Amino acid sequence: MSVFKRLMQLVKPHWWRLLLAMICMGLVAACTSAVAYLIKPLLDEVFIARDLAKLKVIPGLVLIVYVSKGLFFFGQAYWMNFVGMTIVNDLRVALYTHMNRLSLAFFHRNSSGLLISRITNDVNLIQGAVTNVVTGLVMDIFTIIGLVFVIFYRDWKLAIIGMFVMPLGVYPIAYFGRRLRHLATDGQVVMADLTSILTETFQGIRIVKAFNMQNYENNRFIAECRRSINIIMRTVTIRSISSPLMESLGGLCVAGIIWYGGYAVIKGESTPGSFISFMTALLLLYEPIKRVTRMNVSIQQGVAAGERVFEILDIEPEIQNKPDAVDIPPVQTEGVEFRDVYFGYEDEEDVLKGINLKVRPGEVLAIVGVSGGGKTTLVNLIPRFYDVRQGAILVEGHDVRDVTVESLRDQIAIVSQRVILFNDTVRHNIAYGSLEKSEEEIMAAARASYAHEFITAMPKGYDTIIGEQGVRLSGGEQQRVAMARALLKNAPILVLDEATSSLDTESELAVQRALENLMRGRTTFVIAHRLSTVRNADRIIVISHGRIVEEGNHEKLLELNGEYRRLYDIQFQVDDGLDLGDQTAAKPEAPAGGK
Ligand code: ADP
Ligand code: MG
Repeated sequence: MSVFKRLMQLVKPHWWRLLLAMICMGLVAACTSAVAYLIKPLLDEVFIARDLAKLKVIPGLVLIVYVSKGLFFFGQAYWMNFVGMTIVNDLRVALYTHMNRLSLAFFHRNSSGLLISRITNDVNLIQGAVTNVVTGLVMDIFTIIGLVFVIFYRDWKLAIIGMFVMPLGVYPIAYFGRRLRHLATDGQVVMADLTSILTETFQGIRIVKAFNMQNYENNRFIAECRRSINIIMRTVTIRSISSPLMESLGGLCVAGIIWYGGYAVIKGESTPGSFISFMTALLLLYEPIKRVTRMNVSIQQGVAAGERVFEILDIEPEIQNKPDAVDIPPVQTEGVEFRDVYFGYEDEEDVLKGINLKVRPGEVLAIVGVSGGGKTTLVNLIPRFYDVRQGAILVEGHDVRDVTVESLRDQIAIVSQRVILFNDTVRHNIAYGSLEKSEEEIMAAARASYAHEFITAMPKGYDTIIGEQGVRLSGGEQQRVAMARALLKNAPILVLDEATSSLDTESELAVQRALENLMRGRTTFVIAHRLSTVRNADRIIVISHGRIVEEGNHEKLLELNGEYRRLYDIQFQVDDGLDLGDQTAAKPEAPAGGK
């Protein structure tokens, strides 16, 4: 019920268009009934009475009725669809903008296929329901009332017989309606799964091919399509059974009426005109009644879809500004501090346990540790992608939960472990988040990131479209574009999450220099597995199982002969070789690469 009310809220602003549509619908219904009504004078007064004068009137009336019916039909269809489509549009925009407000955790919980299905299929179902319900409620019910009036007016005794036969049709309609509803829900689930498979395989096409998984994915898709066709065929079967069944029942009804009515006409109790008028009205009743009974399915589907859509619209972003949140001042004197921070994802156990850390403005902090230790998680807490479970994170002396999220994130530039690029020009990818920057600034950032050269070498230079996820660039090129983006943002805090992980030997040096340009004068958190980066840092922390287990500079940590030493032995030795120009050290996958 509340879903219904909320849907009505959406309709409210369009009430006058809806009113126009409804008036037109009422008039269409009146015209339909008028046609049935006019049959009697046509037969009795024109044909049977052979009245030439009336013959001149009735065709004109019929013409007027049909032309006005056409006009009103257009009016109702236009306004009704206008309202329907506008609602869908509003809902879609509301849903998308709302989803964009939601926290990262929401996107981890729900697959993108499911979210896409909410915005496409479910919203369509709602539109179908709104349009069908209004059309059904107004046009069809008015038509039914009008025709029933004609029926009773022409022959009330016959009409009563008809009324007794009608309920025969109600039970199968209700039964079929229920079955169809369940199938529609199953159909939605299958569509969401199909969308998931599509987005996943197209985005991961390189891996699909590399692992020769085309057949596996094809089979997954085929299985899903089979489920879909199965559901569709069951739906079709029910629909196709219900139609002839209803028609047979209708035939039974008509046969009985002909038998009884014909008898009355022959005996002179009724006129042929009354009888044919009655029959016409009865036959015209079939379509609107069928539509009204289907309306039930449409409402159920729409309400179910509405529930799913409103469920998302009702989710409050976990991360949002406090009512009294203020903008954070630029990071200058205090830097970033973790105060006894505990954090875990969802209901899972703690990933970070008792992190205490203070990073001075301008300090470069290297974070090392085996994969899965919590390094990425730690840096993701700074821009408040998630809130801590216990303790606090302070940026420039302010708890990040007390300041506006926008002002906080304005202070931070991130080069993430997985470079995220959009299917747009290089220029726009670099200027993402800094759209107001000038051409010169964009190029300067690209130069400092050692990206300018390869960009200008491409056929369209800065206007080259780089493909979804930047597929048209090499891994190293992607990372340099990401660094240019971070550089252009020119934020006081910099987070580099294994920004050198997917590099080939060739771009290694360029990226190293780009990194140095990027870090200069910024409070930097660099998650690294390259010795060169680690060594250049002001301080190193070692993370293991969510705790800071060692802290210090390179020499001191080596002396400790602990976790760092172990990492050094298995990881950095290779890099040492690389620093000396050893080509064999090039490795496509870093051993410490995260998930
Ligand atoms: P690192 O960057 O050091 O390799 P992460 O911070 O990515 O490690 O991961 C730390 C732990 O948190 C891992 O055990 C990982 O499985 C878990 N984890 C990471 N991201 C999520 C997530 N979105 N939901 C649940 N668990 C996660
Ligand atoms: Mg990581």
